[in-house]
Amino acid sequence: MLRFFSGTLVLLVFAAECHSAPASGPVEVKKSPVALNILEQRLNPGGLVGQCKTNDSDRISSLSGNPNEMSRWRNGYVVQLSPEWNTEQAQLIEGALYELSSKICIPIRKFATGAPAYGDFVYIQKGGDRTGCYSTGVGRQGGRQVINLQENGCVTKGIIMHENIHAMGFNHEQTRPDRDNFITIYPDQIEDGNAQYQYKVYSGSLTFGVPYDTQSIMHYGSYDFSKYGNPTMRKKDGSIINSQRNALTDSDISKLRKMYNC
Ligand SMILES: [Zn+2]
Repeated sequence: MLRFFSGTLVLLVFAAECHSAPASGPVEVKKSPVALNILEQRLNPGGLVGQCKTNDSDRISSLSGNPNEMSRWRNGYVVQLSPEWNTEQAQLIEGALYELSSKICIPIRKFATGAPAYGDFVYIQKGGDRTGCYSTGVGRQGGRQVINLQENGCVTKGIIMHENIHAMGFNHEQTRPDRDNFITIYPDQIEDGNAQYQYKVYSGSLTFGVPYDTQSIMHYGSYDFSKYGNPTMRKKDGSIINSQRNALTDSDISKLRKMYNC
């Protein structure tokens, strides 16, 4: 009889704990079990690399190194992946975030896919053709914000990092207030529409004393968003800028670490 009662008691306590348990919170992202370059090759057999485009309509939110303290992720950067991503795509996205987290001092956490998410977080959604790669905000917006990765062209380690760095608080390198000392922009050569905003100077942007870097993972290349196929910008010595989306540069890491007081 005693055994019966004690067993029942354990079951009742267990049931009560399950019933009152809060929704599971975000957990830190993990290293990919498969090398990221292998995943990239499998997922992009044609070597496609999409252009980044942001659809920020609010110019204030487009400041690079946003000086607004409210735009920082002081308690950690939080994401949730759409259930539409397959296993390898999800591994690459999480693996790229893990690599990013290893360079900076704020934790990167994720809500389980499909679980209820709450608070401030970035929802990483799969985009169809011609949706592009973009972040709906530069820095923390409050509540749910979105990163869109076009399935064909944006699912690479570098682009995943690039978009998440937007959401952490940086716009494109060529929007820095000091850019005219290093590059020349040709406004007439830039596509009309939203692309024009990616070549403006945002004078309130913070650079944290880190030198301008044409090889930043956040810098456009000379032929991105070109209206007629001519360069939209050049270095001051006249040479072409080849954008790279392979790795963070020392300056990319330095800016993030300074923004987050590492
Ligand atoms: Zn971008």
